[in-house]
Amino acid sequence: MTDVIVVGAGAAGMAFSILAKRQNPNLEILLIESRDRVGKKLITTGNGRCNITNSDYDIMRYHGKNPQFANSALSGFPPAKQAEFFSSLGVLVDFEQDGRAYPLSGQASSVVDALRFALDELGVEVLTSTSVNKIKKSDNAFIVNTEGNDYYCHSVVIACGGIAGGKLGNESGYTLLKSLGHLILERRPSIVQIRTDLTFVKQLKGIKVTGNVSVLDNGNKLKTEFGEILFCEYGLSGPAILQLSRLISFNQTSEISLDFVPAYSEFDLVKMMLIRKSDLSLRPVSEFFTGFLNKRLGQVIAKYCEIDIRELVSDLTTKEIAVLAHTIKEFRIAAIGTTGMSNAQVTAGGADTDQFFDTTLMSKKTKGLFAIGEVLDIDGDCGGFNLSWSWASANAAANGVCKYIKELNK
Ligand SMILES: Cc1cc2nc3c(=O)[nH]c(=O)nc-3n(C[C@H](O)[C@H](O)[C@H](O)COP(=O)(O)OP(=O)(O)OC[C@H]3O[C@@H](n4cnc5c(N)ncnc54)[C@H](O)[C@@H]3O)c2cc1C
Repeated sequence: MTDVIVVGAGAAGMAFSILAKRQNPNLEILLIESRDRVGKKLITTGNGRCNITNSDYDIMRYHGKNPQFANSALSGFPPAKQAEFFSSLGVLVDFEQDGRAYPLSGQASSVVDALRFALDELGVEVLTSTSVNKIKKSDNAFIVNTEGNDYYCHSVVIACGGIAGGKLGNESGYTLLKSLGHLILERRPSIVQIRTDLTFVKQLKGIKVTGNVSVLDNGNKLKTEFGEILFCEYGLSGPAILQLSRLISFNQTSEISLDFVPAYSEFDLVKMMLIRKSDLSLRPVSEFFTGFLNKRLGQVIAKYCEIDIRELVSDLTTKEIAVLAHTIKEFRIAAIGTTGMSNAQVTAGGADTDQFFDTTLMSKKTKGLFAIGEVLDIDGDCGGFNLSWSWASANAAANGVCKYIKELNK
């Protein structure tokens, strides 16, 4: 009988196995992975660079039915400790000014390699190309069923991840937890592109600008982010959009408001545009924005305001200037939804955290059952917060499992 079976050799499952084995070298761990190699999602993260964590830890960066659930694990294994952990594996972590951290090598593959080597060095048994299909609990043991084999163990850690990322995700963790009496909350894509009304967006396809993006519900601002905005054939993308996509995912009738010049108040913008009108009076309106806004964006804004771009700047009325300035500060676009789970970086929703202890990640329903990482109803903002949760929940569960096995052996 094995002490622990870990289902899923992704970020959380590998970190758990290393941390638990370091704490108790005698602990027998069997790590089962359905794919032919460990860490297949991890290798794609951060555009191949792996945004491993973020120094700007704040529980406000986390979401779910009860984001506070994540606090215990994250404060027990904060970003600095995560960086120490990776350094001990040979991966030096470089914190950038905005808090995002990457391996100094700039390669996600180096993170996977380091975890893989450590598993081997510590004697963690890893089974790849093996899918866990069923888990049953009988008395003090679990029976973990794969194609053709039953494995017996004292405790099980579900580290199967979520359904985001197309082929990199799967349902399995939710199915296994459900079969053990756990509630799975509604799942939606997060950190994903947004689909919008295309009337004006289509004309801006390919343009990248920087500004404020706000999500509005019935005209009320829910949240604002500053950053790059990319106009695409389906709608909007870019860091600021990805960061707000969770709100659109759960509230598909919302509106997006773009402020292309956050540095100016609307009042100052009107003043500047009136000066511009007298300076550039002989140019056509199509050139009025050149040198101040993206040229094509300026022309589309004029069209949005029903102003003929062929007329002369001198013909613009003060009222038209005020309308243009207002539109530049509040360019409204109806949101239709997201581009879906296959394009998302993380699953919002998942296993209800009310049914787990926040300190150990052990199930309140089934003793000896643990769940870590994305399969739980905790998702973080874009910027390294999701991997940070994977490492931190793995660490909390490593402490929990070691304590649980110690008590069983007493
Ligand atoms: C394209 C992309 C880029 C991302 N970039 C970042 C980033 O830079 N920074 C960041 O913080 N987050 C990023 N994320 C999110 C982050 O990768 C995930 O939140 C994180 O990997 C979750 O870790 P996990 O261990 O819970 O799940 P995973 O890493 O998905 O691992 C789960 C593992 O379990 C295996 N498995 C599932 N079911 C079974 C079963 N029944 N039997 C055996 N094995 C099973 C899977 O094959 C998988 O290997 C990104 C996500 C994507 C899709």
